[in-house]
Amino acid sequence: MHSRRHFLVKLAVTLGSPAVLAGRAHAQTPPPPPPPVKLEITDPVAVALGFNPDTTKVDAQKYPLHTVEQKCAGCALYQEKPGEESAPCTIFQGKLTPSNGWCSAWAKKPDLPKPELPK
Ligand code: SF4
Repeated sequence: MHSRRHFLVKLAVTLGSPAVLAGRAHAQTPPPPPPPVKLEITDPVAVALGFNPDTTKVDAQKYPLHTVEQKCAGCALYQEKPGEESAPCTIFQGKLTPSNGWCSAWAKKPDLPKPELPK
């Protein structure tokens, strides 16, 4: 009986030890997502949406509503980071699109009113 009690006490101490608890906490934390990679024009979704990394080279016959002013940098789906040439796009998860790119899902970034400064 003594050895059973001794075993249960040791088990409780071991399970409550910081090393075991840290291991459990670590096991519950999902791994970080991989860093985003450049969107390739061969990506199946990119092909379906007519993605082009250079908005000036979009096929005007195929996309007659496209204009060269339309580019990722001015798209509502572009998650711009100041000073960077490319950024994630909501449509292409885990991929970076160039600021000068374009695809047929382009949607004009809304013009937000500038905040008034206190007088
Ligand atoms: Fe660029 Fe917008 Fe198309 Fe994304 S949805 S690739 S930001 S044009």
